[in-house]
Amino acid sequence: MNDMSSSPSPLGRHQDRIAAVHAEATAWRRDIHAHPEIGFEEHRTSALIQEKLKAFGVDEILTGLGRTGVVGIVHGKAKGKMIGLRTDIDALPMQERTGLPHASTHPGKMHACGHDGHTAMLLATAKILAETRDFAGSVALIFQPAEEGGGGGREMVEDGMFDKAPCETVWGLHNMPDQPLGTFTALPGPTMAGIDYFDIAFEGQGTHAGVPHAGVDTVLTAAHFVTTVQSIPARNLSPFEAVTVGISMIKGSDAYVVMGDRAVVGGSVRFFSDAARDKTEARLRKLAGSVAEAFDCEAVIDYRRNYPPCINPEAEAEIAAQVAESVVGEAAVSRTAEPCMAGEDFAFMLNARPGHYIWMGTGSDDHVSGRLHYPDYDFNDASIPLGVAYWLALVDRLLPAD
Ligand SMILES: [Zn+2]
Ligand SMILES: [Zn+2]
Repeated sequence: MNDMSSSPSPLGRHQDRIAAVHAEATAWRRDIHAHPEIGFEEHRTSALIQEKLKAFGVDEILTGLGRTGVVGIVHGKAKGKMIGLRTDIDALPMQERTGLPHASTHPGKMHACGHDGHTAMLLATAKILAETRDFAGSVALIFQPAEEGGGGGREMVEDGMFDKAPCETVWGLHNMPDQPLGTFTALPGPTMAGIDYFDIAFEGQGTHAGVPHAGVDTVLTAAHFVTTVQSIPARNLSPFEAVTVGISMIKGSDAYVVMGDRAVVGGSVRFFSDAARDKTEARLRKLAGSVAEAFDCEAVIDYRRNYPPCINPEAEAEIAAQVAESVVGEAAVSRTAEPCMAGEDFAFMLNARPGHYIWMGTGSDDHVSGRLHYPDYDFNDASIPLGVAYWLALVDRLLPAD
């Protein structure tokens, strides 16, 4: 006979409560998935979160932070410090192609990054924390809008979230379908890239395509500029500095026979340090101006600083790794991986408070989850207990009841 009581629980001391909430949390996740809302339009999602938090009996519900953002605060049975657990709640402007029963009912909108799953896991965590209150201090459950480029994290911080919910540390989590279910990666240092956007217009005297010498060719100018920008990472930055400069948009006139007076290129810069960001922006400006001058055009430059890089501080990375180990075992937690060149606006919270942004593996053979930001993506509901267990173990570690 197998003595089950002596085998260590894979989900820690909250195993039974987590198992009990799994089906319910899966239903929430699929409901949110069926009703995706993009950045700052998460009104239904925000209302659903508030309704659930109220039903769970959390002590305070803060709204109006980052427009549609919500923070629920649960106090433990003893006094102590406050920590923040953060999820993103927004969807992407893309058409779903999964054909699943819970597929998006909103045309052109889709939860293709798993923020539906992140939200359901944090709701389940809130429910268990409000039931048990077996910790000393307070937990702020941060539901952040507009992660996918809108800067909801920045807005929540600017709206005074950390004044109203004075967290000592703040913690984030993202699913990773290309890593196996049951694993975590707690990376110290550079983890997610900073990202800026730019539009550069080359402007000059347009002309008839058959009379090119009567004006300037703004498209030819733009084309020369496009080929120069790769010299920035290749020749202006150290080979050990990870930076990408990509031009993904180019637009000239609307006719075969018109050389327009304007050609516009747009793209993104991704980086891990302020120095690399400053250097790249300066070089982009200089190259655009110089190429424009060489072709008798003018360069009108719109460079927008968007997200800073997400750099995990070392001490909190080690805490996150140890907490994840307590959930899935030492062999299933990695402290090394290549950083990701995607942006992540949890960086604004990490710049305000120490904490950690952990990756949770969700890939499994029996769940074809696709890749993040693809139309065939679906969050793996089998990972819900692991995410909830990580959050609860983190609370146990940081706010022990005795
Ligand atoms: Zn995403
Ligand atoms: Zn995401």
